[in-house]
Amino acid sequence: MPVKNIATEVIHAGEPHPRVGGAVCLPIFQSAMYETGTATSYHDIQYIRLNNTPNHIAVQDKLAAIENAEAAVVTASGMAAISTALLAVLRVGDHALFQNTLYGGTYDFVTKDLEGFGISYDFIDSDAPDTWAEKLRPETKVIYVESMSNPLLQIGDLESIAVFARENGLISMIDNTFPSPFNFRPVEWGFDLSLHSGTKYLNGHSDIVAGAVAGSKELVEAVKKKLDHLGGSLDPHACFLLHRGMRTLAVRMKQHNVNALTLARFLESHPRVLTVNHPGLASHPRHMRAAELFDGYSGMLSFEVDGGVEAADEVIERLQYPISAPSLGGVESLVTRPVTTSHSGLSDEELQAAGISKSLIRVSVGIEEADDLVRDFARALA
Ligand SMILES: *Cc1c(COP(=O)(O)O)cnc(C)c1O
Repeated sequence: MPVKNIATEVIHAGEPHPRVGGAVCLPIFQSAMYETGTATSYHDIQYIRLNNTPNHIAVQDKLAAIENAEAAVVTASGMAAISTALLAVLRVGDHALFQNTLYGGTYDFVTKDLEGFGISYDFIDSDAPDTWAEKLRPETKVIYVESMSNPLLQIGDLESIAVFARENGLISMIDNTFPSPFNFRPVEWGFDLSLHSGTKYLNGHSDIVAGAVAGSKELVEAVKKKLDHLGGSLDPHACFLLHRGMRTLAVRMKQHNVNALTLARFLESHPRVLTVNHPGLASHPRHMRAAELFDGYSGMLSFEVDGGVEAADEVIERLQYPISAPSLGGVESLVTRPVTTSHSGLSDEELQAAGISKSLIRVSVGIEEADDLVRDFARALA
């Protein structure tokens, strides 16, 4: 497929032609149902839960264009996208492989819910291709990874995952929330389904919860039908806000990329900072891989200061701009200690196995002036 300019696509792709009533911005279609018209099957009736109102269609077409995928469907949350996509392709007796450093909500769904659906699973190290084949079973259907791990920003051997899936007839799924399609388009690297928490960079303004799935027409249609049944549909007002947020994805991501790299370099040079995790740093163990796969490294970083948990909390408290809050991907900088938020469910052993220290600080670097952020962290660390 031709290389597209995402900055142009986010603004123009998916917009209805002709414009509805001449409106430059697609209005909110606050109507639950539509005239039957020529619909002959249930899934063709226009109804908010069936994910096919004008607001759904526009935002879905725009996302498909920027993911360079044939089709996309939006969902009520990132978890609705993940759970619905998994349940669309897995059934009783099937087996799936999951990256061993999953987003917390996904980890809980896999370990607490899949068994109830008669679906078994194994975890894999996404950076150890030699170990994947021994986990395969005749009933293995899916291999599932994330573009960057939370909170250490590790990057698995994603290219090999897509090849391994193809060679073994598996559906490859990737949670692409952290880089966003501005920085990484998994379908271009052979992934079957790219999943998003639209709550994060896609919307970018920390004011809605949303999700999305992009991929081939056939697979997205299967996910859409499962979503029609499970009901995790995005309402038109949230579609409108997601659509509005996505129109500035390119300018926001450019600034997130610059700000995070600037802050990561500053932190790495600071005498009180022990480690910094950001894929754009030459010191990142998979920096070369990230440079090959990604067009930018996103706004996420994590770091450790000397002095343990107390010192980490003191730094967080002294910061003026970053708000101490969970989640990520908005215009404002956010800071958390993952063991108190996203990873609070993990035991000491599990944290140690994952390499996540209790004093680790995660930063979702916003799009404030980079100099102001650097000055703020310098003051907080002084
Ligand atoms: C936030 C997040 C999710 C879940 O998304 P929600 O919109 O909160 O349901 C899934 N994956 C990743 C990587 C996330 O950061």
